[in-house]
Amino acid sequence: MVGEVDAAHATLQVHEGAVYIHEGRSYLVEKLDLEERQAWVWPAEVEYYTEASTETQIEVISVHESRVSGGAELGYGEVFVTSQVTQYRRVRRFTHENLGILPLDYPPTTLDTAAYWLEVTAEAQEALMEAGNWRDSPNDYGPDWQEQRAKTRERDGYRCAECGAAETRNRQHDVHHRVPFRVFNYIPGLNRNDRLANRLENLVLLCRRCHYRLEAGVRARTGMDGVAYALGNLAPLHLMCDRRDIDVAIIRQQFEGELLSHRPPAASPPPQEALTAPRIYIYERIPAGIGFSAQLYERHDELMVGAADLIRGCACRYGCPACVGPVLLVDSAQLAGRQDSDRPDAAAMPGSSGEEIRFWRDTPGQSGAPVEPRPLLETKRLALALLAALAGD
Ligand SMILES: [Zn+2]
Ligand SMILES: [Zn+2]
Ligand SMILES: [Zn+2]
Repeated sequence: MVGEVDAAHATLQVHEGAVYIHEGRSYLVEKLDLEERQAWVWPAEVEYYTEASTETQIEVISVHESRVSGGAELGYGEVFVTSQVTQYRRVRRFTHENLGILPLDYPPTTLDTAAYWLEVTAEAQEALMEAGNWRDSPNDYGPDWQEQRAKTRERDGYRCAECGAAETRNRQHDVHHRVPFRVFNYIPGLNRNDRLANRLENLVLLCRRCHYRLEAGVRARTGMDGVAYALGNLAPLHLMCDRRDIDVAIIRQQFEGELLSHRPPAASPPPQEALTAPRIYIYERIPAGIGFSAQLYERHDELMVGAADLIRGCACRYGCPACVGPVLLVDSAQLAGRQDSDRPDAAAMPGSSGEEIRFWRDTPGQSGAPVEPRPLLETKRLALALLAALAGD
């Protein structure tokens, strides 16, 4: 036997294909048997580490207390958490280069526990939007989406543009944005940046498998992602608990009414207005909770100041694992997908303050000087703007 992990985290830490580090040695997980509660591992020296991602749903069962503080609406109470490990990435050590993403198929786990949560007030969100610092709305692909989607499927001949697999009768392929939709900063009613994002040259038809792979290479981390990451590392210090005693999740798509009920989510999504703001939850891994959530609620202001100090004080430029989490730098070749693609590169897109950023026009190497890779979103800047808004500055 090599080591032990707690059952709740088994699919996260020792899923098939995971690199498991124990006492400084790395092991490759060959098989995970959930019924036997065993994983088979082999000692292996590999050039990468693995990072599993979880899909989480959180239902608020009861609100113990809530208040508005500055630009933040916060609360704590009892929650029901459903989480499922759905895929993992292989990431090259040291350079954090993405080496591919692979799907996983494990049953969801559930947890009855306590959580502290926070979201941005509507006014603070509006101010962030006006300043160009808000990228956390649930993705609304704009009024032309269905039409552009249909055109893309037709153009690509109903086949995956990467591997050539045809759509099946049961499942249409996905239409993917080469430059992620969020990057374009579409604000319904305020601009029509959706038209830029949904131009046919930015869209491509992909089968599920190829979609996973390409998506992993261009994950854009928002301000919420950055703040949640920082809080996840800070909260245990404030609570003097183990990092594994808490988990952090951002819930982006939740509907009014769904928050305080046991009803399953509606089959057809209600209109956009019924959506609540995205929310960061810090929930306790110990069933029923042991008071951490109440403490976080009490120490909210302190926590926000701590997060801002941590991020501001970090020496990195766009964000790193020590502050807002790893920020992937990308270049045009990565976004274009297949190297021999004859599609045009992703072109100009609106920058944070309205100016055009044209860092993907040139094919690297073609213009002589190599194109400097850039982040899709400047997570660090967005996270600091979000924290300022939450504080009510
Ligand atoms: Zn494919
Ligand atoms: Zn996609
Ligand atoms: Zn940093």
